[in-house]
Amino acid sequence: RAMMACNSLKNNYNANISFYDTELHKKELFEECLVADVDSSLVNKNFVVYYQPKYDISGSRPKLSSAEALIRWNHPEFGMVSPGVFIPLLEENGLVSKLDHFVWHEAASQVRKWRDTYNITIPVSVNLSRIDIYNPKLEENFMKLIETNGLSTRDIMLEVTESAYTDNSDQIVQVVENLRSKGFFIEMDDFGSGYSSLNMLSELPIDALKLDMKFIRNIAINPKALHMVELMMDIADFLKVSVVAEGVETEEQCRLLKQLKCKIIQGFYFSKPIPPEEFKLLIEKEVKARSNEAKEIEYVNR
Ligand code: C2E
Ligand code: MG
Ligand code: MG
Repeated sequence: RAMMACNSLKNNYNANISFYDTELHKKELFEECLVADVDSSLVNKNFVVYYQPKYDISGSRPKLSSAEALIRWNHPEFGMVSPGVFIPLLEENGLVSKLDHFVWHEAASQVRKWRDTYNITIPVSVNLSRIDIYNPKLEENFMKLIETNGLSTRDIMLEVTESAYTDNSDQIVQVVENLRSKGFFIEMDDFGSGYSSLNMLSELPIDALKLDMKFIRNIAINPKALHMVELMMDIADFLKVSVVAEGVETEEQCRLLKQLKCKIIQGFYFSKPIPPEEFKLLIEKEVKARSNEAKEIEYVNR
């Protein structure tokens, strides 16, 4: 218990004494429960995959272009637990890779279902944890996944968090490079959120930068924040990678990003992460819009 109290002070330079109190005790019990319940929750379908759309705003109307798969845990005792709470916890003991596998399988079969039902391809990006990258079977697993679902490597995009690149960059670069050579599209998640890898950016094998939402938050109220995003866009341009802006919540933010020629937007402005039953309504809307556009073109060409 003393050690746990001690650990709770890690990286906290303002305090030099800590107690193992009821609060810490409750937290420990809560975390223990979560860890113990992963397997049963997988079996009982308490984990569900939600999808958040990404829109291409470069044209005259925002076009549904892809989605991100985000896990949700409806815990039988605690109700909805945020991934911000359980992912870091399960990363500590490696259990997260079980969840990631579950999410990847769900996502791939969802892409297949949408294609079969609506004759449309909505690629889905999935999150990779650090530990996944060290799995020697990672590439094989993804290839199997693609094959089983009759998909191509373009249909599943992979999000690797920025901080993973700074851990053991040589190994990660190698793994990611191999996946890219198979045709997978790699997005650097949370770009600019912490451990900046700016110095290695030019050597990293990536296809897109996902600008962390902290960059977006103030662009409509602080010209400096907007200028920062403009500079990021320049960096991306120089590297010849595309940019996805995350955490876009307002129309004004969206308008400013469009002005800066940011093509892909993800955020509550368009939609929160939603279950597949709701996501299909967005697809139906998109299919309708595309069919109307096709009719218009046909009419003009006649
Ligand atoms: P992330 O991959 O950067 O995902 C984006 C997070 O931002 C999601 O939080 C999403 O709900 C939230 N978000 C999106 N748009 C907005 C917005 O406009 N405003 C605000 N305030 N938030 C927005 P979520 O779903 O809680 O996930 C948190 C993190 O947990 C994710 O960050 C990711 O790192 C991790 N995570 C989620 N699902 C998985 C998974 O299946 N596997 C792994 N390894 N990690 C996951
Ligand atoms: Mg992500
Ligand atoms: Mg992100």
